Amino acid sequence: MNIEKQDRPRVVVIGGGFAGLNLAKRINTQKYQVVLIDKNNYHTFQPLLYQVASAGLEPDSIAYPLRKKFRRKKNIHFRIAEVTKVDTKVKTIETSIGPISYDYLVIASGAKTNFFGMKNVEQFSIPMKSLVESLNLRSRILEQFEDALNQDQVNEINKRLTFVIAGGGATGVELAGALAELKNKILPKDYPDLDIRKMQIHLVEGSDRLLASMSTKASEKAERFLKKLGINVWTSMRVEDYDGDIVRMKDGMDIPSKTLIWAAGVSANPIDGFQTDDFERDRFLVDGNCQLLHHEGVFAIGDVASFKPANEDRPLPMLASVAMQQGNYLAKYFNKNLNYKNFKYIDKGTMATIGRNKAVVDLKKFRFSGIFAWFVWMFVHVMLLVGYRNRVIVLVNWFWNYVSYNNGLRLIVRNSKEDPKSNEKRTNKKSVHL
Ligand SMILES: Cc1cc2nc3c(=O)[nH]c(=O)nc-3n(C[C@H](O)[C@H](O)[C@H](O)COP(=O)(O)OP(=O)(O)OC[C@H]3O[C@@H](n4cnc5c(N)ncnc54)[C@H](O)[C@@H]3O)c2cc1C
Repeated sequence: MNIEKQDRPRVVVIGGGFAGLNLAKRINTQKYQVVLIDKNNYHTFQPLLYQVASAGLEPDSIAYPLRKKFRRKKNIHFRIAEVTKVDTKVKTIETSIGPISYDYLVIASGAKTNFFGMKNVEQFSIPMKSLVESLNLRSRILEQFEDALNQDQVNEINKRLTFVIAGGGATGVELAGALAELKNKILPKDYPDLDIRKMQIHLVEGSDRLLASMSTKASEKAERFLKKLGINVWTSMRVEDYDGDIVRMKDGMDIPSKTLIWAAGVSANPIDGFQTDDFERDRFLVDGNCQLLHHEGVFAIGDVASFKPANEDRPLPMLASVAMQQGNYLAKYFNKNLNYKNFKYIDKGTMATIGRNKAVVDLKKFRFSGIFAWFVWMFVHVMLLVGYRNRVIVLVNWFWNYVSYNNGLRLIVRNSKEDPKSNEKRTNKKSVHL
């Protein structure tokens, strides 16, 4: 990689997500030469991906160009590249644009979708882990309505109007709520030739309650809100197989559907070059300073790190707030010449929204739901977005959606034949019998 070595130590950071970005923003570049590498040239605000998928926000408003972020910061070099391997013996990483050496390495490569080894599900379902995937999902959802218009068999129409979401965590719950809003307020006007009341949304969760990481009160409220919006909630159920036409559940129940949205799990996304004893469930085992247990000078932060607070067996959850705090912490640790107290996570609470006017919020001392929770949810998400422009655009979009029920983002931006997961060619029958 064509980056001149300086006389200050070089810190290579893999990943410009929540963890890597916050580290790169705060590290003192008078003391260190920083090289930030990401396979994309932008940071993605993943908590709002579901709004892109459900045509509520444009993709650009939840992403931020990494180069723009560091325009005014000296001694920071950004490169678009995929990191493929780390060689800790010679302190070098291999990337798609060539190798680069490091004095310190920070791995912040996040997580990837976990299909739990179900090959068919991986082939035919649609995940929502990246901007590209959420845009694909938006197109795929809208295509179902276009295709339904061209069908004359009731079961074929129903299959296209049935959407199954696997995973009842915050992502699944929020997406289900957003799809219900589309069904109830927007699609009937866009598709007067279709009976949109036939649209079915199923939310399938393996454990016995939605939002399992939140309080039982929040779970119950979320389930009640979703059912009120017309969503079929299935708890203690698991998707076992999917062939692009029928979603098969563990207990033998089948749901005919052309769209299975996979929000049921992620696993860490580590980089090659390490031994099995460096990991726990694919996450790098780290000490109190986020340094790998067996590799001095190599750090892991965010989703890819298994950080266990003192006297606890369970690692911190894969959350944006953990990743951001670890990024901030590690910058401080470097700035203090690697001599600073251990990282301590401050849990500021969790929240999820369910359509308009409804959300559930669990703070340390308070739990609340309803419209006030919805405003808190909006405020927190806007404030966490990167860039003032994005904040303003998201706020304007939300306001416009709220008053008009019509944001005009319902574009199919690719040909379905290009969709590698599309299991059929679009039909173009002329006659329509509904
Ligand atoms: C749909 C969705 C909704 C979510 N909602 C919430 C929420 O409401 N609240 C919450 O707290 N958390 C939420 N999360 C989790 C949160 O987004 C993650 O915990 C957070 O993104 C982790 O930050 P990170 O920096 O570890 O990884 P990421 O933000 O995923 O960043 C990893 C970066 O590394 C880059 N990268 C990966 N591999 C390589 C490679 N080999 N070479 C080069 N670059 C690489 C990626 O391009 C990416 O930019 C959500 C996640 C998803 C997917």
